[in-house]
Parts: sequence; structure tokens; C-alpha cells
Amino acid sequence: METAFTDCLHMQTVKQDTAALWLSGLCIVHCIAAPVVFLLAGTGLLTTAFTSEWVHVLLFVPMLVLIGSTVFKSAKRYQYRTPLKLAAIGMLILLASLSVHGPIESVMGILGGSLVFIAHWKNRRFLKAQFHDSALS
Ligand SMILES: [Zn+2]
Repeated sequence: METAFTDCLHMQTVKQDTAALWLSGLCIVHCIAAPVVFLLAGTGLLTTAFTSEWVHVLLFVPMLVLIGSTVFKSAKRYQYRTPLKLAAIGMLILLASLSVHGPIESVMGILGGSLVFIAHWKNRRFLKAQFHDSALS
């Protein structure tokens, strides 16, 4: 039997997974848009701000925190480790992308962001299935 407390905790995790989906989605959009903006607008101030690495550094911290509070929890509590593995590989690729430049940076960003996105999507679906809570869908 589930208590109201674990139900509430579970709902929080689902919400955090949703937030993480938006964050990793934002990274994917940024990685796709950055080269396009660069090609269209050249090397203006706006372009420099948009394409530089600080966007990833800025996204990296909350993404890491959300991985800790969602997919890491699922792996510990339910031994459901697939999202954690995907998220770990995704974050490593994102981290590695900070040290490279040019098209490879975008490719790695899109790949890493997508893996984190899939990880949270799988985790969210798993948690929902665990509790059969229709109010969350
Ligand atoms: Zn990005």
C-alpha cells in the first residue's frame, strides 16, 4: 500500500522529470539553432552570446541536479537503471562537447541532450506506470 507521503514524493519526481524534459529539449533546440543563427547572422554580438558555451554550462547544473532527484532515485529505489545509464552517457557527451568547437560541438550537444531527454522520458513513463495515477497524465 502506498501512503499519501510517497504519492506526493512520486508526483514531485514526475514534475521534476517534466522540468528536465524541458531543459534537455532546450539544449537540443539550442544546439540545432546555434549553427543556423551563426550562418544567417554571422558573428554579431547576439550570435556570440547564443552560440557560446555558457549556454551549456548554464543548462548543465540544473540538468545534473534533476538527474539526481529523478533518474538516480528510480535506480536506487526501484532498481530501474536504464534512465540513469542513458542520462550518465548523455551528460558525459555534453561535458565532452564543452571542450570541442565547430560542427562536432553541435552534433555532440544534440546527441547528449537527446540521451538525457530520452532518459527522463523513460523515467517519467516508468513512474507513471508504477502508480497508475491518471491524475498525472
Ligand atoms: Zn545545446
